[in-house]
Amino acid sequence: MPHVIDGNECISCGSCAEVCPTEAISEGESYYIIDAELCIDCGSCTTVCPTDCITQE
Ligand code: SF4
Ligand code: SF4
Repeated sequence: MPHVIDGNECISCGSCAEVCPTEAISEGESYYIIDAELCIDCGSCTTVCPTDCITQE
């Protein structure tokens, strides 16, 4: 299952997008979002998120 970002916790720091190997993460309207079609579940984004708001569904 793809990783998802909790919009209530995301502070839009952009760290996750920088480390994503497939460029699945982009800046959304009010927080960052993960394109489920591109996510390969590598887990890299979860290790850099300062608010631990990225989880695997
Ligand atoms: S788990 Fe990996 S591929 Fe999926 S969004 Fe995070 S960094 Fe990108
Ligand atoms: S690393 Fe976490 S807080 Fe920063 S943009 Fe990504 S999901 Fe949001």
